[in-house]
Amino acid sequence: MDTTTVFGPIEGPPPAAHGAGRFAPSPSGDLHLGNLRTLVLAALFARASGRAFRWRIEDLDRVRAGSAESQLADAAELGIDWDAPLVVQSERTAAYEAALAQLTERGEVFECYCSRKDIQAAPTAPHAPPGAYPGTCRDLDEDERRTARAALAEAGRQPALRLRSSLREARAHDALLGTLTAPLDDFVLRRGDGVFAYNLTSVVDDGAAGIDQVVRGDDLASSAPRQADLAACLGIEPPAYAHVPLVLSASGARLAKRDGAVTLQELRALGFDVWGWIGRSSGFGAWGSFAEALGEFDPARLVREPAVFIPPE
Ligand code: GLU
Repeated sequence: MDTTTVFGPIEGPPPAAHGAGRFAPSPSGDLHLGNLRTLVLAALFARASGRAFRWRIEDLDRVRAGSAESQLADAAELGIDWDAPLVVQSERTAAYEAALAQLTERGEVFECYCSRKDIQAAPTAPHAPPGAYPGTCRDLDEDERRTARAALAEAGRQPALRLRSSLREARAHDALLGTLTAPLDDFVLRRGDGVFAYNLTSVVDDGAAGIDQVVRGDDLASSAPRQADLAACLGIEPPAYAHVPLVLSASGARLAKRDGAVTLQELRALGFDVWGWIGRSSGFGAWGSFAEALGEFDPARLVREPAVFIPPE
């Protein structure tokens, strides 16, 4: 997409010395009320602590045409400003390659020839988390690699690249959840289809943009230890984390488009008070605007349980 004409210049001032927060949605569809609430909270955490607030379009996967524009338009409609530069992941390949080269040089990357089926079928190490990579390709010798690489190439595939983390334990601190601990498996840095993996791109981009505060939905809390560990491997200071509770539907599942009127436009069309709901469901009053929210916001008062939303008819 031509971000220069749609959103203004991509080059902006260098990251502010006082740090920055961010919102990093995948442009896979319109934001629903749960995403909008996370956006508002991320912007509040950043602005209330005097930080810049940045926006990143995570468009390496799951892209729907027009979604990035409509997500940004929703933020504008809510009165949420973000600071330049707007980061678009599909324009950042060189940065991901450089990070991968840095890790490769230190011997921390290995090729993996396994299919998903191979991984499921292999026995896992005793303390590995469920679904963890069993280490199949970690210690192959050069001959074995050559054979496996050739077999994959014959099938028109290329190896995935994994971080050699050998199941050490990683930690991250979360302002709302406390210490997050996770055993690291050798997670994927670049997928077999050549797409750079979320953990790598997100750490590289946060580092480059001077992001020192990551506020996002708590479905991503389990990613924080591995991202903090990877940041440290790349010489990037890990950010402060705050994983906020999700918005659920009546069934207790994460809110989704199929639940009914959940996007900003759908809710506005029904006369629903989006700002009021976001404020109340977060443990505050019925906010009317971002300025009003900023006046009342206090991270210590944020509700720690998921909110339930039943769409209006
Ligand atoms: N792009 C991810 C998502 O839409 C969020 C990534 C992040 O905040 O680290 O779920």
